[in-house]
Amino acid sequence: MFEEASLVEELQSALTLEDSLYKTRSALCSLLGIGDARIALLNGEKAVLKGSEESTIPLSGSFVQKVVDSKEYLLDNSLGKLAEFYELRDFYSEGFKSLLAIPLASNEKVFGVLILLGKTENSFDASLLKKARSAASIVSLFMANAVLHDWLRKKERLAQLVFEESESAVLIFDENGFVTEANSNARRLFGSIVGKNVKNFFQANDFVARVLKKELISTQLPSNGGFKTFQLDASSSSDRKTVAIRFFEPTEKDLKASVYEQVSEKSPDVVFQLSGDGKIIFANDSAVELLGFGKKELETAHISKIVFPTDLNLLNERLFDLNGGTTASHSTDLRLFSKDGKAKLFEVAMRGIINDAGRLSKIIFVARDAGLRSSVQKQVLDSVVAYASDAVYSFDTRGVIHSWSSGAEKIFGHSKDGVVGSSVRLLFPQEKEGELDDIIHELNGKRKVTSLETVRKRKNGELFNALVSIAAVTDEKGNIVDYVEVVKDITAEKKMEEVNRIQRKLEERNRQLMELNEMKSVFISNVSHELRTPLTNIHGYSSLLLEGEVGTLNAQQSEFLQVVVNETNRLTKLINDVLDLSKIDSGRLKLSLKDFDLRDLVEKCSCKSLAEKKGLYVNWNIAPEVPSIIGDPNRIAQVLINLVSNGIKFTESGGVAVNISMKSTKFVRIEVADTGIGIPPADQKNLFKRFYQVMRKDGQKQEGTGLGLAITREIIKLHGGKIGVESNPGAGSKFTFIIRVMPKKPRNRK
Ligand code: ADP
Repeated sequence: MFEEASLVEELQSALTLEDSLYKTRSALCSLLGIGDARIALLNGEKAVLKGSEESTIPLSGSFVQKVVDSKEYLLDNSLGKLAEFYELRDFYSEGFKSLLAIPLASNEKVFGVLILLGKTENSFDASLLKKARSAASIVSLFMANAVLHDWLRKKERLAQLVFEESESAVLIFDENGFVTEANSNARRLFGSIVGKNVKNFFQANDFVARVLKKELISTQLPSNGGFKTFQLDASSSSDRKTVAIRFFEPTEKDLKASVYEQVSEKSPDVVFQLSGDGKIIFANDSAVELLGFGKKELETAHISKIVFPTDLNLLNERLFDLNGGTTASHSTDLRLFSKDGKAKLFEVAMRGIINDAGRLSKIIFVARDAGLRSSVQKQVLDSVVAYASDAVYSFDTRGVIHSWSSGAEKIFGHSKDGVVGSSVRLLFPQEKEGELDDIIHELNGKRKVTSLETVRKRKNGELFNALVSIAAVTDEKGNIVDYVEVVKDITAEKKMEEVNRIQRKLEERNRQLMELNEMKSVFISNVSHELRTPLTNIHGYSSLLLEGEVGTLNAQQSEFLQVVVNETNRLTKLINDVLDLSKIDSGRLKLSLKDFDLRDLVEKCSCKSLAEKKGLYVNWNIAPEVPSIIGDPNRIAQVLINLVSNGIKFTESGGVAVNISMKSTKFVRIEVADTGIGIPPADQKNLFKRFYQVMRKDGQKQEGTGLGLAITREIIKLHGGKIGVESNPGAGSKFTFIIRVMPKKPRNRK
């Protein structure tokens, strides 16, 4: 039986992404009894295939992409070396004969593909398929978590380098080599460097890259009129877009001491510097103020003089530790006397300062009123908060915001002054109101860090997609004193994702449509050709009969045959039109160019018999300066016949006048005007669309296909011209088109 519980257990114990991948692979192999399990994690345009030798697969056209698109699983129970996708061929060449691939998704977003491989054909039967799919849903769950955590961990590492070691000068560069942030030591060293490009400072375009690769581990920088050597190290964010570089000064230790002094002097806490054996050698103003002793009085005393007798053991233990080489500050509750003889409980942290010889040179002793919140802790927190580029802020257990980074100002739009002291609920959209309580509930339990993708609210009310991680900050006793929340604005990423998705969909649809269109064109031209041949025969034989070539016909026979001939003509025109259109669509309508005179077309294009039947005239007026032109005479005739016959068709009295003149030296203008029923303005702009016909007054369908003018316009376009119409209902219509006297010379392409 397949034991899901054991898979869950296995995965729960995974510490890192690599670990999860490793455990997933081995757990699945043994639980499902298959040959191997691989995981492809999507990473932008690529997928990283983990499990064997790590390799990167470009996604477009890959099997992994196909699985992602399928949303379901894909099963291939007999892999072969001719498989459609190269990944499948690779698996086959590794000795696998069957494959099952299942998308891994979290919140309906696919982030990877699980690939299960079998050593024999038909490894995956219905029951194994079922087990595998249920295992995949468990893997999805854990893997999504592991991927997110991996990302957060990398991010944290960067933050540590930048902030915790801020005694060094640290510069942060963006991907183009511009400095985006500099800490206080970096500002002291470089002046105003933020916003400047690295090459202006270090005379090297590849400075950042070289430091990252550890090719460059030290540099000389101007200092006090001379030069000083600095050591360098660098780390980059997981997307490699942000790089932090740290400059160590050789005098780092001296600097450290002076920083301590400055901090001590300003601190609201009692701060002493003690000699290694516990003599007070420095006391800050707060010590004088809080304890009531004079500065001189303190600075000559031994620390034990002001510690409550029963706490002396604790004090001595700490001093002993520090003398033994422990440098980490250690927090202890001690009661200290004030001048008036009263004892008060303080939370005391001590830290040893080691000299160059590695010996304890002095001790920093910080005591804060135990009733007050840890201000040192807060200071550290505040400085972390101030430098982060994501929004970083902290709030206490009541939800009151205490610190607010410049990144938070940018992302949320609230200024620090405006928001510190307010409730953190301000940042939650209404529909996410319950989320804060859920988070706090979760952090009050065992887990001290959590992360989620959610929505947050800016000052202007706008909501944005946010990747949020929240950590509980605890005091030494493990009580939660603060929550720190890091918010990354992922709106842009989300939008890009959406845009990419839509684009991919559209591209796919486009491709399908083009295929369909191509099929349609081929179909139409095949069918039309098939129809044309019998029609030619029907037309030929009925015309022969009608002309009495095979015997005389009676009046009724003639009449019926005439209907057959007319209908055949109509069908032939329809088929020719459809064929022309399909040629136009597929770009196969080619002109056969000749030098010819438009006057030669008059006879052919006058549609004499049609006009005579209705008693209409067809007049031609061709200006003498109209030269012979270069074009396709048959196609121009087709255009003229269409326009003239339309004119006749829609005219009851009067006739059609064709006027040909020069528009310019390069263009001939041809007008075909009739005295017919005219065209309503609303219909005029649609006339040249395919199948468009003006509705007849009686509501009857117009005779014809509505294709003539569409084809006419295409032919004119091919002659470098255009066509338009002017008309008033009841007052006739005038179609005007221009064509080039000579085709445009193709541009010289180099
Ligand atoms: P068909 O190929 O069926 O003749 P066309 O594309 O040539 O169709 O014409 C489309 C429609 O435009 C006709 O059905 C008719 O309603 C209108 N039309 C075209 N020419 C004229 C005209 N000279 N006078 C009035 N209506 C016209």
